[in-house]
Amino acid sequence: MKQRIETKCVQAGYTPKNGEPRQIPIIQSTTFKYDTGEDMGKLFDLEASGYFYSRLQNPTCDMVAAKICALEGGTAAMLTSSGQAANFFSVFNIANAGDHVISSTSIYGGTFNLFNVTMRKMGIDFTFVDPDCSEEELNAAFRPNTKAVFGETIANPALTVLDIEKFAKAAHAHGVPLIIDNTFPTPINCRPIEWGADIVTHSTTKYMDGHGSAVGGCIVDGGNFDWMANAERFPGLCTPDDSYHGITYAEKFGKEGAFIYKATAQLMRDFGCTPAPQSAYLLNLGLESLHVRMERHCANALAVARALEAHPKVSWVNFPELESNKYNALQKKYLPKGTCGVVSFGVKGGKDAAETFMKNLRLAAIETHVADARTCCLHPATTTHRQLTEEELAAAGVPGDLVRMSCGIENAQDLIDDILQALDKAQ
Ligand SMILES: *Cc1c(COP(=O)(O)O)cnc(C)c1O
Repeated sequence: MKQRIETKCVQAGYTPKNGEPRQIPIIQSTTFKYDTGEDMGKLFDLEASGYFYSRLQNPTCDMVAAKICALEGGTAAMLTSSGQAANFFSVFNIANAGDHVISSTSIYGGTFNLFNVTMRKMGIDFTFVDPDCSEEELNAAFRPNTKAVFGETIANPALTVLDIEKFAKAAHAHGVPLIIDNTFPTPINCRPIEWGADIVTHSTTKYMDGHGSAVGGCIVDGGNFDWMANAERFPGLCTPDDSYHGITYAEKFGKEGAFIYKATAQLMRDFGCTPAPQSAYLLNLGLESLHVRMERHCANALAVARALEAHPKVSWVNFPELESNKYNALQKKYLPKGTCGVVSFGVKGGKDAAETFMKNLRLAAIETHVADARTCCLHPATTTHRQLTEEELAAAGVPGDLVRMSCGIENAQDLIDDILQALDKAQ
């Protein structure tokens, strides 16, 4: 029977048999017992599926990965210990020293640093393109050694909406997959695979967990990218892996499973960015109400954005659902149900006024976090970006007056009342 996404949030990933626990069991065990060495050997050869060591795979984590896989409409998925690990694996699984990757400029700062600093040290080159570039500009960024294209559905914190079809078309024309970080909208509001993305990543730390309890990540494979048709570009998937008993992943596991099997067998084995089963359990609790929470996050953010837009002490508001927003048309196409709970805006009077506004908030807490049930906000100019001058702040796209507000799931009028009283005091 067909399950709609709300049902999948609650039920997918784990179906207990007669007399088994109703809630997913936390398998808090590093290792698993076998009757014979032969039985275990089959697991090592990837001839039988099963568990042997929780650095590579754990049943609790796999149940939760299976739920996220169902939500995104993928064919295989894995959890990682953080969103950073998920994005690192998604690229490093197919790009090695000497290779090249194209990424949107409008991405999370942590991902930008991972690509632009750390992965460059590993010998992987990146070209950053404006998400609003023309098809010609995008096509011109490809090189013979390009292995992937990367972008975020809604960028954190710029809130740009990516034209996923434009990026997918260019990637596929050059025989490489499109990787999309879908953290902000979650599969409730957008499923990038349906628009042509091949691999989807998440920082589950944000809305999926939703309660600020556990850092985590996830990678989902859409199962549509034909590695074997581009075998010369992806030797890691299409030729035998000597470090794993001579397996050719794309042959043995097909389009549907090769990417995740390789990332598990090689990258999890060697890097061990594994989530704890307890964290996966907490993530699953969050997923059970994801569809209910996202609706409220989006409704609250829209109400807050409209109240801000009408306020004389607010100089500008950035929220894709506002008709005045540059990305309103793309939002209507890709995210018709809503975007996320994050709104950014400028307080008239600049940096000092923004700081005074923040100090006077009573409900909204000052945090670097976003996407939590509790409303929080950040003034980058006096916190994360405090070392920059006014000119540098403007160049980085974080002007001194910018406040980023992550609307939680409280009562919308209470959030607006808090903002109004704090704006009254900001001068
Ligand atoms: C937070 C975030 C990340 C990094 O995730 P962590 O779980 O903090 O490692 C990656 N991408 C986006 C869009 C994020 O918001």
